[in-house]
Amino acid sequence: MDAVTAPPPAAVEIVALTKRYAAGTPPAVDRIDLRIASGSYCCLLGPSGCGKSTTLRMVAGHESVSSGDILLDNRNITHLPAAARGTAMMFQSFALFPHLSALDNVAFSLKMKGVSKVERHRRAAQLLERVAMGHLAQRKPGELSGGQQQRVALARALITEPRVLLLDEPLSALDPFLRIQMRAELRRWQKDLGLTFIHVTHSQEEAMALADTMVVMNHGLIEQVGSPHEVYNHPASEFVARFMGGHNVLDTPEGLIAVRHDHTRIASDGDGLAADITDVEYQGTYVLMGLHLAESTPERRGVSVQLTERTFAQRPYAVGERVRLSWSPADVRVLGPGATRPEPQSPGTPSVRQPLAALAAMAA
Ligand code: ADP
Ligand code: MG
Repeated sequence: MDAVTAPPPAAVEIVALTKRYAAGTPPAVDRIDLRIASGSYCCLLGPSGCGKSTTLRMVAGHESVSSGDILLDNRNITHLPAAARGTAMMFQSFALFPHLSALDNVAFSLKMKGVSKVERHRRAAQLLERVAMGHLAQRKPGELSGGQQQRVALARALITEPRVLLLDEPLSALDPFLRIQMRAELRRWQKDLGLTFIHVTHSQEEAMALADTMVVMNHGLIEQVGSPHEVYNHPASEFVARFMGGHNVLDTPEGLIAVRHDHTRIASDGDGLAADITDVEYQGTYVLMGLHLAESTPERRGVSVQLTERTFAQRPYAVGERVRLSWSPADVRVLGPGATRPEPQSPGTPSVRQPLAALAAMAA
C-alpha cells in the first residue's frame, strides 16, 4: 500500500450498541455510545468478561448485534458482512499460518477472494516492504522473531486496505520483555500508517502506553472515556480509580474521594487519618507502604503511600507504626457513582438516526 492508494482512516461511531447472547441473561454489552476519532489509537480497557471482545467483534462483523448501530465515517455498517466494512482484525499472538511463508500469509485473504497468484504476490510483497520485511518474505513464521511475526501479521491485516484496524489482546501471550517492545512498535506503526486502531486489552499499563483515547469498561457499560492522563488523574468512579491503580479510595465527609498513592502525605503525628503500616516494599525509585486505616469499613481499609527513595531514607517508617495520613485539597478527586445500567427500553424506542424532533415527540 503506497501513500497514493492508502485509504484514509475512518472515524468510528457506536450508538446504543447492545449484545445479549441469550434471553434472560444480562447483556454482555449494554447500550454503549462511543465516538472514536479518525486516525486515533483507541484502547478498550477493563477486566475479563466486561464486554471488550464482544464490542470489537461486533465492529468487525464477527458477531451479530442485538440492537444499536455502528458507523464508519457516517456509513452504517451494522449489518454489512465483515469483508465489506473497511475493518480488519489482528489476533492474539498474530495467529499466522505456520506452514505458509510470510508472503503467502500476507496474500492469504486475496487468495480467498480469487485474486490471481501474480497479483496477490505483488501486493503482498509491496506490503511486506512497507513494514520493512521484504527481505524475509520467503521465511515461515517459525523462522522469524516475535517482532518480525508481528509485522507479518500487520501486513496480513493491511492487505484488505482497512480504514480501521481492530486488535484483540494482540500482545497478551508474549513474554513481558517482548510485549513492551511490540507495543512500542504498534504505536509507531499506527502513527506511521495514520490508521484508526481499536485495541482491546485488560492491562491498564498497556492502554496508558498506547492510547490516545482510553475507554474503561465494566459489566458491559462504559465507565469513563478520556486520554490516559485524564483517566489516571481524574478517575470518574471508584471502579476506575481501583482498576487503574495508584489511588487510595477514601470515604470522607466530602464524599468518596481518590488521592494518588504518591500524593498521600504521611506523618508520625498531627492531623489526618490514623493508619497502621502493614508492609514496606522497596521498589527502586520508590518505596511503597501498605497501611490499614484505623477507622474504616473492611472493604476500604487498605491504603498505600508511595514515597521517593530519598524521602523515605530521610525518615524511614517501619511495619507496625501508627501514622497520620493527609493530602492537599488540590490532589482530591471526588468520585461519582460510576456507570449505571440505563432504564429498560420500551419496544419502539427510536434508533439514533431518527431526527431529534421524532425523539422529542416519543419522549413527551
Ligand atoms: P472481555 O473480552 O472483556 O473479556 P467478552 O466480550 O469476551 O469480555 O465477554 C463478555 C461477556 O459475554 C462475558 O460474560 C462472557 O462470558 C460472555 N460471552 C462472550 N462470548 C460469548 C458467547 N459466544 N456466548 C455466550 N456468552 C458469551
Ligand atoms: Mg476478550
